[in-house]
Amino acid sequence: MRRKTLITGGAGFLGRHLTAKLLAKGHEVLCLDNLFTGSKENIAEFRDHPHYEFIRHDVVDPFKLEVDEIYNLACPASPVHYQYNPIKTVKTSVMGAINSLGLAKRIKARIFQASTSEVYGDPEIHPQEESYRGSVNPIGLRACYDEGKRCAETLFFDYHRENAVDIRVVRIFNTYGPFMHPDDGRVVSNFIMQALRGEDITIYGNGSQTRSFCYVSDLIDGFVAFMEQNDETGPLNLGNPGEFTIRELAEKVLQKIGGRSKLVEKPLPSDDPVRRKPDITKARELLQWEPKVDLDEGLDQTIAYFRDFV
Ligand code: NAD
Ligand code: UDP
Repeated sequence: MRRKTLITGGAGFLGRHLTAKLLAKGHEVLCLDNLFTGSKENIAEFRDHPHYEFIRHDVVDPFKLEVDEIYNLACPASPVHYQYNPIKTVKTSVMGAINSLGLAKRIKARIFQASTSEVYGDPEIHPQEESYRGSVNPIGLRACYDEGKRCAETLFFDYHRENAVDIRVVRIFNTYGPFMHPDDGRVVSNFIMQALRGEDITIYGNGSQTRSFCYVSDLIDGFVAFMEQNDETGPLNLGNPGEFTIRELAEKVLQKIGGRSKLVEKPLPSDDPVRRKPDITKARELLQWEPKVDLDEGLDQTIAYFRDFV
């Protein structure tokens, strides 16, 4: 029998890549998405696939399906989009987790949660390991996302303890690659599109804040390896430990694309984390997983994809 996998948020950036990987492995894939930040174009190539189905639905409302496993990815990930309607973002994270976990409990399906490095907030320890409890401002502009994801983790572990739901929780660090929305607002897509269009490259603050950028194929390999193992619930960090300042990223993108763009400084959004880098010891030991694609190679692939949008 084919393994039937539900992906909530399956029409988004990561959902699209996970779908491609699971279809290639012979799974049947059901995508459930309200198309808030995802799109039909993202999933157009799967439309006629005999083992693919798309259901337009909002995870805030309950759903009943028969599947073998669930990946819960539904949630806007870019600060621009999750702050557009912050109350809805909390509902998506929390109600979406309750509805997905309720389904997993009823049908006894293993369930994966796309959590985030944002649960560490503006971290006081560096790099961040899974045992770190985080430093999140509960009333700031990012809280709808950070606290929503923290509460979702709480729900996952309570359903696991109370109802023996078989959970896998991953904390994803900044991931980029083809099929990000060109106007998504995240830093890699912004810088590439600005450079390709010859516009100013907008550095928020002085650009000394750091991020660690993971190429999407590495992340998705980690998702599936983690979902397929039977020993660990997580939380598990997945990301690329290479750490770069935002100014270094801007310079790299500009050097690769060339053109007449200038680096300009814009106000730093509130609560913007100063630095971020995953400790991936646990993923290395458990899954023998580590990223294979470095930033240079990943940027080259991503730039090639975005050229079609200019
Ligand atoms: P994305 O915005 O491209 O995809 C999110 C998808 O969820 C979209 O297709 C959107 O339409 C859908 N969605 C949003 N609200 C919904 C709702 N109420 N009901 C149904 N569908 C809904 O973002 P992404 O980068 O693909 O992120 C996927 C998941 O991974 C998210 O949960 C995000 O928080 C998490 N994550 C991503 C990153 C990253 O760097 N890409 C980092 C940390 C965590
Ligand atoms: N950023 C920036 N210019 C942009 C978009 C983002 O300097 O056009 C910065 C942002 O302030 C943050 C980092 O890049 O410090 C990563 O931002 P992103 O929105 O991609 O993700 P975050 O890690 O903040 O959720």
